[in-house]
Amino acid sequence: MIQSVKDAYLISSDQVQERLETGKNGLSTDQTIKRQVQFGKNSLPDTERKSIFKLIIKQFHNLMVYILLIAAAISFITQHYVDAYVILGIILLNTIIGFVQEYKAEGALTALKSLLVSQCKVIRNNQFVMIKAEDLVPGDLLVLEEGDIIPADARVIYQKNGRTSEASLTGESVPVQKSEAPHTEPCGFSDQKNMVWKSTYVASGSIRAIVTATGLQTQIGQIATSLKNIAPKKTNFQNKTDKLAVQMAYIAISSAIILFIVGYLVLDTSKSELLLISIAALVSAIPEGLPAVLSIVLAVGSYRMSKQNAIIREISATESLGSVSTIITDKTGTLTQNTMTIKKIWGIGKADVEVTGEGWENKGEFIGKSFNIEHFDDFFEIAAHCHQASLEERKKHQTKIIGDPTEVAFLVLANKANKQKTLSIIEDIAFNSELKYRSTKVSKRNTEFKFFIGAPETILERCEFYKDENGDTQTFTAPLRSEVISKIQSWSENSFRVLALARKEGINMEKDELLEFVGLAGMMDPPRPEVIPAVKSCHNAGIRVIMATGDHAATALSIAQKVGIARQGRNLVYTDSQLQEMSEEEFTAAVKNADVFSRLTPLMKLRIAKALQEEGELVAMTGDGVNDAPALKQADIGIAMGIMGTDVAKDASMMVLVDDKFSTIVHAIEQGRIVFNNARRTSFFLITTNFAEILTLITAISFGLPLPLTATQILWINIVTDGLCDKALATEKGTGKELSTPPINPKENIINKNIIPLLIINSLIMTGLALLSFKYYLPEGIEKARTMVFIIIAFSQLFNVFNMRNLDESIFKIGLFSNKWVNYALFLSVLIQILILETPFFASLFNFESIEIFEYLFWIASSSLILWAGEAYKYFKKFKYQIK
Ligand code: ADP
Ligand code: MG
Repeated sequence: MIQSVKDAYLISSDQVQERLETGKNGLSTDQTIKRQVQFGKNSLPDTERKSIFKLIIKQFHNLMVYILLIAAAISFITQHYVDAYVILGIILLNTIIGFVQEYKAEGALTALKSLLVSQCKVIRNNQFVMIKAEDLVPGDLLVLEEGDIIPADARVIYQKNGRTSEASLTGESVPVQKSEAPHTEPCGFSDQKNMVWKSTYVASGSIRAIVTATGLQTQIGQIATSLKNIAPKKTNFQNKTDKLAVQMAYIAISSAIILFIVGYLVLDTSKSELLLISIAALVSAIPEGLPAVLSIVLAVGSYRMSKQNAIIREISATESLGSVSTIITDKTGTLTQNTMTIKKIWGIGKADVEVTGEGWENKGEFIGKSFNIEHFDDFFEIAAHCHQASLEERKKHQTKIIGDPTEVAFLVLANKANKQKTLSIIEDIAFNSELKYRSTKVSKRNTEFKFFIGAPETILERCEFYKDENGDTQTFTAPLRSEVISKIQSWSENSFRVLALARKEGINMEKDELLEFVGLAGMMDPPRPEVIPAVKSCHNAGIRVIMATGDHAATALSIAQKVGIARQGRNLVYTDSQLQEMSEEEFTAAVKNADVFSRLTPLMKLRIAKALQEEGELVAMTGDGVNDAPALKQADIGIAMGIMGTDVAKDASMMVLVDDKFSTIVHAIEQGRIVFNNARRTSFFLITTNFAEILTLITAISFGLPLPLTATQILWINIVTDGLCDKALATEKGTGKELSTPPINPKENIINKNIIPLLIINSLIMTGLALLSFKYYLPEGIEKARTMVFIIIAFSQLFNVFNMRNLDESIFKIGLFSNKWVNYALFLSVLIQILILETPFFASLFNFESIEIFEYLFWIASSSLILWAGEAYKYFKKFKYQIK
């Protein structure tokens, strides 16, 4: 049995390895299996998933329920026990539906998030493998690099510039430099420099560490159980739905009071009857099913987004996406294919050399005036060594690449020149988006060399020398420098992504200066074909698209023109340094107009997002690196790359693109707009009933008629009659025209003035028909008359479903059968209505009187008036638009 090591920071790394029976080759399969049994999974109890108890409480803690409880209490006091029980029963039913829905929705969200299983890199059996973080065991050898979230507590045994950010654990925001050395004195965990902690992340450099504790044994695991659940901030969408609920509650309370006063002062009604009227008024205006159906709308939306490769990490993003007005997108990999191929190489005093061969194919020719492969020996040597990439030959014509495509391109180039990685590598420093270059230190014939590949400006800045044809070192003069710069410019204008190669020999290896310029490589990264139509639909949808890239201005502009982001005749490209020199006003103006931001640093990304938000834009922004995290958090919708993105970027974002594609963002926005429309249509559907009921009550009472519906009948209609169809309406697929209108104003309420005409028409028809039949049947007894009112309101609502499927188009145009859920729901709903009207038990519970078949048919047919009126309204509205 292996014991976990508690004091790993006090002993040497060799002792740690000894105690955990592991080494540089990692654990063996046998050891891993045994330890998985002994230590269990490396996971923490899911604190994010709300507890069931809390979810249940939440269902009761709600204004609508309070009003219903008051209604039940009044019924009880006035000794209408059946009513009181029915109301209580319905509260219970409603909370169960609400609970089940929310529980399912939350489960769905957790399931979506778990599609993004956290992986980690370890060495096992002397092999580098990716495993699920939950499968880690003590003794595992972790390989950590910039952007990785640390999957377990571990003792550092090697590090190079290894710094971790421990803010999530200690609150300290400055990254901590790690070291291999053991401490001599005992100290608290936040001071232990040779340990890395689960759930913190690598801010820079690379680290290897031996896992000392997993799961609940980790520092975070020990405090996880005591972590307080921070109350999540209310989202925009919640605020909107709360507002709607409060508005309806006001209507309910004020109409109850008005009816009470009118009844008391004007009419000669008994007190007990007055109270009953007030209860009915209270329950009639409350859309009981609203919270449940809105959570379904969101769940359906985020599920559909995941089917289209956009994984929602924050459910509110599902709706906010519909309001996105500006997208700031990366270039490489998102707009382009990220299949970098080096097509041109060049060195001082040489002619351009064309390189043939596409993609990751290792074969190609070098074509150039008097091309001599020996003249490019240094060039290919750098290409062969300065990368962290490899190629896995699979079946024919199928290669899998490992590492950054930019670096793979250099590997492929070296292979074409038959240059292998033969020198021994002392140190490799990964690409850093701040510095914009990478480097590798090697040893060649007992001399140290450092090779550099990176963005040409940053490399050129550091170059002082070059070698002429004879191999003699010469000064890199100003005229030569401008020659190189104009070469970069001309390649860039032709869409080439240009990188510079340089090296340094022997002296002062720590400082990256006094380099020898070696040459330029021009790579092609063609735009993704589907980006062009996707950008076009953004423009049609009133969404601005801005490219934000670390690349050269000319390359960026050239790609931006190809995909339609930069419109012809506008060359609005700003570089980071240009932006930095601007005054506040100039900056705002630039941000308002630009198509492309180039040579951008992560900090500037953050500033741009803020400036756009101050201009009232709702900003969606992509990112992949550690440094992008602040900008991703700042943006209204932070979007991380699923393939190229770091753990940290994913953690900071609301949505993750499984395929890194720009068009996926556009699909998600389209779905977001559908979600908003569905929320609007389902709410509209529900409150139509409320309006019709309250109107019927007020009119009847004002004319001195008795109560046209009892409180229990009203509740039945609100919850059961409407309860299936509203959920079916939540599955509506959209009209296909979502992207032809401007973004939804983020402040726009669910119920706005555009729906008011139809709301009035619908509720007037329901009220009119209800009162007509009420008056007509009253001589046959109050119960029969109420039964007729019930039938009319219930069946008109069922016809109204067809109106609500699309607020602009005729149901006959979109197809009566185009949403099967609606038709199933309608069929079932009709069955249920007939069931309670016709079975003696329910009929007596709800005080229904039996009626003739022809009366049924007549009044159901009359109820369809609401559909014909809705159709006429849509026709008229279209007609009016056409005249304008
Ligand atoms: P982008 O990928 O949009 O070009 P980045 O910030 O990732 O933006 O990169 C900025 C620049 O740094 C690139 O244009 C390129 O010149 C250089 N660069 C990018 N990746 C690498 C890499 N892996 N190795 C060396 N240089 C790189
Ligand atoms: Mg990049």
